[in-house]
Amino acid sequence: MSKNIGINTICTHTGELEDKEFKGAVSPLYMATSYAFEGVETKRYPRYFNTPNQVALAKKMAALEHGEASLIFGSGMAAVSTSLLAFLKAGDHVVFQDSLYGGTSNLATEEFEKFGIEYSFAKDAKADSLKAEIKENTKVIYIETPSNPLLKITDLEAVASLAREHRLVSMIDNTFASPVNQNPIDFGIDVVIHSATKYMGGHSDILAGTVISSEDKIERIFHMAKNFGGSLSDYTVWLLERSIKTMGIRVKAQNENAFKLAEFLTAHDAVARVYYPGLKDHPDHELAKKQMSGFGGMLSFELEESINVSAFMENLELIKPSMSLAGVESTILLPSKTSHGLLSEEERAKQGIKENLLRFSVGIEETEDLIHDLSQAIEKSK
Ligand SMILES: *Cc1c(COP(=O)(O)O)cnc(C)c1O
Repeated sequence: MSKNIGINTICTHTGELEDKEFKGAVSPLYMATSYAFEGVETKRYPRYFNTPNQVALAKKMAALEHGEASLIFGSGMAAVSTSLLAFLKAGDHVVFQDSLYGGTSNLATEEFEKFGIEYSFAKDAKADSLKAEIKENTKVIYIETPSNPLLKITDLEAVASLAREHRLVSMIDNTFASPVNQNPIDFGIDVVIHSATKYMGGHSDILAGTVISSEDKIERIFHMAKNFGGSLSDYTVWLLERSIKTMGIRVKAQNENAFKLAEFLTAHDAVARVYYPGLKDHPDHELAKKQMSGFGGMLSFELEESINVSAFMENLELIKPSMSLAGVESTILLPSKTSHGLLSEEERAKQGIKENLLRFSVGIEETEDLIHDLSQAIEKSK
């Protein structure tokens, strides 16, 4: 098939395995952990990332992100840690943008010292601030856009050219955007990572991760990955393939819902501020328009001081206060009490995370039902 097929076709078909025996409509599942030798070269084993289902799904992942190759991991953090450690050794330095997924900043702050790896966090997500942290021993520049929880946008093209200029490997955690809304390789970014637990899985029932890049970079990550042992079980690989078939239509529905809810919340007099890259008054709206094909299903907002935030959360009937994100069901959380709860109030204030900031992962429910739920919960919490 031609290379330029559309996202929903990639989601549904790319990489699928043919059921030669029974002509079933879906990829057969190969659960074996032992395969007969095929010559001396090929040793097929799940931890080597080369079972039929792993290879098939990796083809879909590579196509989704316009890369050459991919690996599927047992979690997003397995993909993040293995990719970083594949390009960093003792004495090397990595530059991170400021607001990162908590697990990723914990990996650096809790583990890197024992490997002798140095790191710096830029003061914000701007390319110039990342540039200011580059040192002689810097090897990797690592970003995440849109960021959690304020949906700040990092300039992909500027970071890619910065990396080329300083001969660094550029990496992005593209989880929040999903491959439906943003393809960083098109802008020159080298390595794209996803927590597939989020939009790729999409139903809050799969833990997985993936990395997509060029053949040679994936080869390098693979050498570390087979020793670290973070591959995903074939049964879950198969489930993830099934989930991704609907990712295009799910995420587009989530984009649409999030956009309408962002507009509804902006117009509501009990809402002090809305953070959504699709809104014209978002500080990075123009940049988001340039590098994203949709603005995503994540938004954040602050209620007016007069609204009791805990009561608001309790009064929601449809939208679930809960951890994680990107499922078909809408969920909401308070970063100050959860993802950013370990920071001091002062540190949160420095990052612009107010105590009453709510992070909203918009699902695929009917827009009107979500609006009704938000309205009634606000009314009851005045
Ligand atoms: C959830 C998440 C991760 C970690 O993924 P796991 O699958 O939980 O290991 C990394 N980055 C982002 C942006 C995430 O939301």
